[in-house]
Amino acid sequence: MIEETQPTGSAVPAVAATPAAPPHAPAAPAGPTPQIEPWLREILRCPQCRSTLSDGSGPSGQELHCTNAECRLAYRVDDGIPVLLVDESRSLAG
Ligand SMILES: [Zn+2]
Repeated sequence: MIEETQPTGSAVPAVAATPAAPPHAPAAPAGPTPQIEPWLREILRCPQCRSTLSDGSGPSGQELHCTNAECRLAYRVDDGIPVLLVDESRSLAG
């Protein structure tokens, strides 16, 4: 006995038009992302409070974050050059 009834509402496997992840991961160590030299970051200080800065990231990419909890200013990094200007910084505090 062969029943040729098609199941109604069957889930048709849809062909993924756009894969979620690219086949090649961009996490190459020798990438074009500029890195701040360790010696340079050693001498960098927050112009607002003279505290040290730590690596961070923001909406515009790489940033330097003030380590002072009462200051919490973030400075953007343009092509590996930190912009340590209070007028150009943004606050990490809510
Ligand atoms: Zn600061």
